[in-house]
Amino acid sequence: MILRVALPVPLRRLFDYLPGDVEPEYGWVPGLRLQVPFGRKQMTGILAGVAESSDLPRTKLKRIGTVLDEAPIISETDMQLLEWAAAYYHYPPGEVICLFLPSLLRQGRAARKSTVPLWMIAEQAAELPEELQRAPKQLRIARLLQEYPEGLSPDILSAHFSNWHTPMKALLEKGLVKQRRVSAGGPIRKEGPPATMELNPEQREAVERIAAEFGKAARFLLDGITGSGKTEVYVELIKSVIEAGKQALVLVPEIGLTPQFIARLRDRLQAHIVIMHSGLTENQRLQGWLEARDGSAAVILGTRSAVWTPMKNAGLIIVDEEHDPSFKQQESFRYSARDVAIKRASLIKIPIVLGSATPSMESLHNALSGKYRRLVLQQRVGKALPPQMATVDLRNRSMHGALSDVLITAIREQLTNRQQVLLFLNRRGFSPVLMCHHCGWTATCPRCAIPMTYHKQRNSILCHHCGSQAPAASVCGECGMAELVQVGYGTERLTEALGEVFPEARILRIDRDSTRRKGALEQMVEEIHAGEADILVGTQMLAKGHHFPDLTLVGIIDADRGLFSADFRASERMAQQIMQVSGRAGRASRPGTVLIQTHYPDHPLLNTLIRQGYHAFADVLLEERKLTGLPPFSFLALLSAEDYDDKTPVTFLNEARAGLRQAGPDLEIMGPVPAPMEKRAGRFRFQLLIQSATRAYLHNVLRDWCPALENLDSARKVRWSLDVDPQDLL
Ligand code: ADP
Ligand code: ZN
Ligand code: ZN
Repeated sequence: MILRVALPVPLRRLFDYLPGDVEPEYGWVPGLRLQVPFGRKQMTGILAGVAESSDLPRTKLKRIGTVLDEAPIISETDMQLLEWAAAYYHYPPGEVICLFLPSLLRQGRAARKSTVPLWMIAEQAAELPEELQRAPKQLRIARLLQEYPEGLSPDILSAHFSNWHTPMKALLEKGLVKQRRVSAGGPIRKEGPPATMELNPEQREAVERIAAEFGKAARFLLDGITGSGKTEVYVELIKSVIEAGKQALVLVPEIGLTPQFIARLRDRLQAHIVIMHSGLTENQRLQGWLEARDGSAAVILGTRSAVWTPMKNAGLIIVDEEHDPSFKQQESFRYSARDVAIKRASLIKIPIVLGSATPSMESLHNALSGKYRRLVLQQRVGKALPPQMATVDLRNRSMHGALSDVLITAIREQLTNRQQVLLFLNRRGFSPVLMCHHCGWTATCPRCAIPMTYHKQRNSILCHHCGSQAPAASVCGECGMAELVQVGYGTERLTEALGEVFPEARILRIDRDSTRRKGALEQMVEEIHAGEADILVGTQMLAKGHHFPDLTLVGIIDADRGLFSADFRASERMAQQIMQVSGRAGRASRPGTVLIQTHYPDHPLLNTLIRQGYHAFADVLLEERKLTGLPPFSFLALLSAEDYDDKTPVTFLNEARAGLRQAGPDLEIMGPVPAPMEKRAGRFRFQLLIQSATRAYLHNVLRDWCPALENLDSARKVRWSLDVDPQDLL
């Protein structure tokens, strides 16, 4: 018997080994972790299958080392999912399978749960006894615990006090504090009864239609405008899932996983929720993973990578804001968490709900062709009305910086009425270009060959693509004249201009720079809720999820960037962003207004979006995609190659192209051409775009072609990657 083992190495194959002397308790079942010799090292791998024979002679095969698990750590269906993903994305199976495991398990750690003690004040210590005055340290600890009735972990206590163990022990002996052990995985169940809410008829119907399919592989597109109560639909569904003793997996985009969203689910669900995102410590990730796997977590909430969380008893998958680009991983293993989730739901035969106010063209197409059932929420909850949208024609208009007179007047009126304003500009920094007025020279990133953004507060220039940084020069790098001018607008500059026009207004800038400090974003959101800010200047960080009742005017500073991009998805992204940001306006009783500044007020797509809404826009765009044969009416793969030398990628891509021509005569192949961003972090970048009328044909060809590609000599000289269903052609 031969064991076929998946190892985390960049090769599109499994590795054959001979079994050890001792057979594991449940036999050689796929999903077991094994320690195997590989080269000179020992590596942890996963048993992927057994075979009768190997292509290698028996004498060449090595014997495995230790078997790390008694029973498979990865379930049979999860193994199926991983094998599917490796095949679909044509990515090395060992890397896909090992990525599934938290890194501590990859390193061979036992799959055992751990707990941490939580210290809390005892009930009888509501009034602290007089005598505690004589033990000042005990007193200070007790006072801190009084402020945090839900308890504090040793980490936090250590951050406040050195040597707190002895006084804590004294408090424990006096019965003033108590200790509880909780899961190390993260937030635990909230005490007290959950808040409840009566659904409106549209919401109720959506819930009923989805719940009717529990236990079956059904796919739903929950297509509901912003503020229509999609989250409440999720909550009701999750409640039923939990009542049936099952688990729910909820995927949200990166900017969607805010403390507000987590708090909202915790308020509404009487359940153990595990949160999975990239900011966890390795141990937190392992604990959450184990609790999901053994079924003790009822809800798994997370960003992209949470789609791989094992579940003992899955009942439902929800993908919120399914159109969001952050569901697609843009490096190494380029998977789409939404698409993996769809596959996963169908493998385990449970319903999946894709929710969005601005569904992707792919999902709309699937709904129109009957693959997904579409549920529509057309009304905003309560008295709130959808905002009124209008364009502001910037041609020949008088401007103060990036602000048109029309927008200034509208803002002034808001301020008089004590209402809040949100200005959306998805570009941080002061100005995207720093140019010499004398000779036209611009400050350019030496590694990416594109302009660097000027950041006034730090007085430096920054490359937003590779992170390169330099002090902002005061003279031209070419002619030496001190005539540098800032061209274009970022959030810093917009904030400055607003300060000049509205010196009385309280202006809050919310972008990656201003929220870098931990807790800064939460604090700003609180200020907004408390009415301590009049004008908010924000990037996409503010576009999603927030609910500010006093916000009734949204200004989109620059809608033109999405209209003329090399990427065919740019107009879809632009429309989604405009609708999301607009969705922040008028969420309470007063109606909202959205003003969109543009130099192209007659642009047909922009016009359709503004006058007739997202769905009319999507119809036009789908028709365009159909005529031009672009996704979802065709299927793409993008082969990219980069190197410090500008010739090797072209050589590689030409060889790749030749092989591909032979393997798939019916494919359309475009390139090699330079990538839209030709140079990044010092490497020259080229690409080959592969297009097919059917998915099956594309994958049949890629399956045979990828291993051959890996073996090309020219492949070893470059960094290359294959992106199936690429979302971003840059
Ligand atoms: P969406 O996710 O579609 O943007 P939300 O679920 O966030 O919408 O709902 C918008 C607001 O309306 C939230 O403050 C939510 O608590 C409230 N809400 C949702 N459904 C109801 C309901 N049936 N009754 C009362 N308020 C509701
Ligand atoms: Zn110059
Ligand atoms: Zn750069």
